[in-house]
Amino acid sequence: MKVYEQEQPIDKRSPWRAMWRGFMLRCPQCGKGKLFNRFLKVADACPHCGEELHHHRADDAPAYLTIFLVGHILFPPIMLIERFYEPDLWLQFAVWAPVLALLTVALLPRVKGAVVGLQWALKMHGFEGAPTAQKALDTST
Ligand SMILES: [Zn+2]
Repeated sequence: MKVYEQEQPIDKRSPWRAMWRGFMLRCPQCGKGKLFNRFLKVADACPHCGEELHHHRADDAPAYLTIFLVGHILFPPIMLIERFYEPDLWLQFAVWAPVLALLTVALLPRVKGAVVGLQWALKMHGFEGAPTAQKALDTST
C-alpha cells in the first residue's frame, strides 16, 4: 500500500506525508480525495473526508519552486549534450523548449499540492483543525 493511499487519517500531521500526498494531487488529511478542482484550483474541501482546504495560501511559492526544480533537472542534460554533441542551436531549441514547457506544466500542480500539504501539516493559515463554528466564535471575541 502506498503512503498516500492509506485509509486512516494521520493522527500527527507529518509534513513529509502531507507533502507527498499533496504532490500526488491528493488531500493531505486522508490521501484519497482530489486536492484540485481544476488545473491549479484547490478544492474548497476534500470530497472524501471533508477536510477544509480553502485555507491554503500557496501564492507564488509553487511557481518559484517549479522554476528552481525544472532548471536543476534540465541544466545537466542540456550542458552534457552541448558539450559532447554540439547540436545546432535551432535543434536544441526545438527539443528543449517543449521539454521545458511539458515538465513545467507537469510539475506545477504537484509542487503546489506539496506546498498546500506542508501548510496543512504545519497548521498554517487556518489549517489548525478547529471546527468552522468554533473559529467564528474565536474571531468574534
Ligand atoms: Zn481528505
